[in-house]
Amino acid sequence: MISRDRMLEEFLNLIKIDSISKKEGKIGKYLIDKLKKLGLAVKTDDAHKKVGGEIGNIIGYLKGTDPGKPTIIFNAHMDTVTPGEGIKAVVEDDIVRSVSDTILASDDKSGITAILEVLRCLKENNFSYGNIEVVFTICEEIGLKGAKSFDPGLVKGKFGFSLDSTNPDKIVVKAPAANTITFKVEGRSAHAGMAPEQGINAIYVASKAISKMRLGRIDDETTANLGIINGGIARNIVPNFVEIKGEARSHNLEKLETQTKHMEECFKSTIGNFKVKVDNKEYRASYKVDVQREYNPIKLSDDSLPVKLAMESGKALGRKMETIAIGGGSDANIFGEKGIQMVVLGTGMNKPHTKEEYLVISDMVKAAELLLKIVELNK
Ligand SMILES: [Zn+2]
Repeated sequence: MISRDRMLEEFLNLIKIDSISKKEGKIGKYLIDKLKKLGLAVKTDDAHKKVGGEIGNIIGYLKGTDPGKPTIIFNAHMDTVTPGEGIKAVVEDDIVRSVSDTILASDDKSGITAILEVLRCLKENNFSYGNIEVVFTICEEIGLKGAKSFDPGLVKGKFGFSLDSTNPDKIVVKAPAANTITFKVEGRSAHAGMAPEQGINAIYVASKAISKMRLGRIDDETTANLGIINGGIARNIVPNFVEIKGEARSHNLEKLETQTKHMEECFKSTIGNFKVKVDNKEYRASYKVDVQREYNPIKLSDDSLPVKLAMESGKALGRKMETIAIGGGSDANIFGEKGIQMVVLGTGMNKPHTKEEYLVISDMVKAAELLLKIVELNK
């Protein structure tokens, strides 16, 4: 059945193939070849055309031995963050870590490995299973872009499992919604030494608004952050422009709205108060705000099909499963928006997006065992 050695070998192969977001061409070809050899029909979409990437999302179709059972979707993303090129790994007992100055890419190649292993097991053993659809996405790490351009009409499945979290005994059933928020503040430039009274310092004005803002952890469901600030061109010029980029997240859409409004309000109630008069003409600071919904929340009940299946499967394997909420969005949020109920499962990846990232091999094996049991118990 599930083979630890085979999984480890596959994982080590996968992390040798560089696949930073938009550069998934090579790994895409590798996976298309694998899926075909495992007996799946394979399609790609044109998601890459919208993001300037090399290849689209990959969709694999495995015909079940009992197509009367509901179709299950398995998802993992092919892209990685940086620094993720030329990864060299070392295996120490149950741990794989990177020895070069890079991430390990267990996010999300451990997820891909688990899915491939399950497909291999299904090919080897002829127990009864329904249709399975595999969706390997691109550009998850740069704004869930592959999933966003995915056409749900390409799959028949109505629920699935995204392999893109840490602990294989935890089932992610709640993930927040997020807004990206951009403020553009306009002041008035002037020579900082000769005529500062003729200027409105956009950086100073913005700082007054920001100082009123609630940021960080707002409550147990809500967070907010300003992460990028850009403005000014020289030390000796009063800056006439600054741009601030941030975000707010919440498991509760009303709270997300309240926090976003609060952040806007801090600018609204501050910026207009700054003005100067030059040659009898009045100039006022002004601002523009742009709010975009980055993704919507996941909120799956305990009796939704994927949660029930994952719970039962874990129990059948003698494991103590737990449902949890996480603070980040993933492809599963986007699939949810498109009418596909998707829970996120852990793969053994740890400390993703850092150079300290490592994989617990036995946890990756547990992820594959859970998936296989899910296929078995699905009816
Ligand atoms: Zn990931």
